[in-house]
Amino acid sequence: MPPHADVLQWEHLPFPKSLRDFQRLFADDDACARWLEGAKWPKGFVCPHCGEKGEPFRMATRTTVLTCRKCRKQTSLTVGTVMQRTHTPLTVWFWGAYLVSTVTPGISTVQFERQLGLTRETAFQILHKLRAGMVRQNRDRIGGNLGRGDHVEIDETYIGGAVRGQGRGPQGQTLVMAAVEVRTRPAKKGDKPMRRGGRYAGRLRLEIVPTRGAKSINAFVEQAVEPGAMVITDAWGGYNGLPALGYQHLPVVEGNDPNVAEEYLPIVHLVFSNLKAWLQGTHHGRVSPKHLQAYLNEFVFRFNRRFYPFNAFRSLLGIGANGEAPTYDGLYSGEWKHPTMASHHG
Ligand SMILES: [Zn+2]
Repeated sequence: MPPHADVLQWEHLPFPKSLRDFQRLFADDDACARWLEGAKWPKGFVCPHCGEKGEPFRMATRTTVLTCRKCRKQTSLTVGTVMQRTHTPLTVWFWGAYLVSTVTPGISTVQFERQLGLTRETAFQILHKLRAGMVRQNRDRIGGNLGRGDHVEIDETYIGGAVRGQGRGPQGQTLVMAAVEVRTRPAKKGDKPMRRGGRYAGRLRLEIVPTRGAKSINAFVEQAVEPGAMVITDAWGGYNGLPALGYQHLPVVEGNDPNVAEEYLPIVHLVFSNLKAWLQGTHHGRVSPKHLQAYLNEFVFRFNRRFYPFNAFRSLLGIGANGEAPTYDGLYSGEWKHPTMASHHG
């Protein structure tokens, strides 16, 4: 019995908390394959061809293929995942997904290539495929199951465009809207006062919108936020249509006092400043409007999974819950190419 077979006896799939954990858990391709098997069949192998349960045959040379004892047909552990039809070892994919999902603010092709001793081509291909899972749009609406006093902050900001030395203004800039859940940690007796009154960000949505007009705003809010949610915005008239769409709307009059916005829309402003720092730092601010939505999606992917590295890891590899993995066909055909990776590549 291989030394890592015991991962299947764990009640829940184990996930490493550190690089040392990672090395122990995913020491070789066999260990990775066993882990994939546990993800696909939490209660043990079931043959997708004939429904037979019970230990399949395993080949020492092809760890990703299981053979049914009854019908003798083969099942691939990587079908439907990002690793399908690849010759790259599972350990390399697992390392890649782990680094991409846990290293902030991401990892470059060059770093990845050096860390794993890969060729530039392989490093580029793997990172590109893993990132495809990040830039997919998540269409779930936020704000649906908030507790009492919790709400959604919505605001808009301009990104990019302005070249240093030129006048400031919306010329050449892209308008981005954000909706972010604001939740509150319940205060316990004897606690010290909490930062921001115990408020913290839940899930985030970011989207490029064409204008600040009511039509754009309504369209964004309707696809991003569940009706019925309490929504806080500034007093801009473009938000006035929200109550008619079923939202509880609290417009905050900022006037000329920036402290008012800071007090009532603190989380969304924090998101915007983090987003801009990330675009500036990681991507040197050189993000064309054409590629901006893909970057926004990556930012949202990282933001929404920052407390759940296990989910990020699984999403990147294309391992779905209950064995229903999403297909990655079509993702690769997307036009979006990561400019940083492309420049490392070229
Ligand atoms: Zn079978």
